[in-house]
Amino acid sequence: MTAQLLDGRVTSATIKEEIAAQVNEFKEAHGFAPSLAVVQLGSDRAATSYVGRIQKSCESVGVTCVVHSLPADVTQDGLLALIRKLNNDSSVHGIIIQEPLPDQINPEATALTIDPNKDVDGASPINAGLLFQNLGRPFVPPTPAGGMELLKRYGVNLKGAHAVVIGRSNIVGRPMSMLLLHQHATVTMCHSRTLNLPAIARQADILVCAIGRAKMVTADYVKPGAVVVDFGVNFVDGVMCGDTDFASVAAVAAMITPVPGGTGPMTNVMLLRNTLEAARRATGT
Ligand code: NDP
Repeated sequence: MTAQLLDGRVTSATIKEEIAAQVNEFKEAHGFAPSLAVVQLGSDRAATSYVGRIQKSCESVGVTCVVHSLPADVTQDGLLALIRKLNNDSSVHGIIIQEPLPDQINPEATALTIDPNKDVDGASPINAGLLFQNLGRPFVPPTPAGGMELLKRYGVNLKGAHAVVIGRSNIVGRPMSMLLLHQHATVTMCHSRTLNLPAIARQADILVCAIGRAKMVTADYVKPGAVVVDFGVNFVDGVMCGDTDFASVAAVAAMITPVPGGTGPMTNVMLLRNTLEAARRATGT
């Protein structure tokens, strides 16, 4: 079997067009664009490049993006003061705090300070709690939201399917597990202390990898015909790869996200979608 690709480039381009049209309608109705504030602490190279990509995608759909650069030695109070200012600024609809955070910054206090209605990264425990309880319309972290959107657009059946999620971080694995559960999958969550991981993974109809270990998941982890979602972003000898050993896994899976070109491009468009949603909420539309 050669797996069908869950193509994040093509899908994200389609969604971008949809968002651009909706942003246009929003602008016509309100006379201003949805606006995203990105707070970057220090000048980490990967973060700077990611922020650049956010700016470009905002531009491409007509969302305003303002980057607030703080020095790497900014104090916790200094960061919280900026977040409160952005919370109180009605021209700002979405706020993200770009990782990595310097050591002196407490991530919990930071996430708790962001207005949950502007928390387009789904970082606030308020949004995480709503997602956990399947209540209201929480902002969901863009990466798992993008993975779910790919599964939806490719018509993957989730109801009653056994989903095995490897990884339990607050930004990828854990929210992905909740999203799958809310779509009535039977979810098994795995992590670094899970015993007999390949045997558990082999039970999956949908196997989600959110580990951060290059090519760790080989064909031995995959049930023939499974759908594999690979969130991993790793580099081996300067070449990007996922958490799956793509060639061997693609030979047994029915569908798989490539890396690059799978879940990665979906993350940005989900951030745009969340920002538009935040602007709609702020304007009561
Ligand atoms: P974290 O390091 O926060 O979490 C990794 C998870 O994998 C942890 O739960 C950890 O378990 C688990 N894990 C680590 N090693 C093993 C192992 N040998 N066996 C089983 N489980 C293991 O990473 P993130 O969730 O932030 O990111 C995961 C991957 O997704 C990374 O490659 C990251 O670069 C990528 N990523 C991709 C994005 C995209 O847009 N596609 C966006 C964000 C991240 P434990 O909890 O026990 O430590």
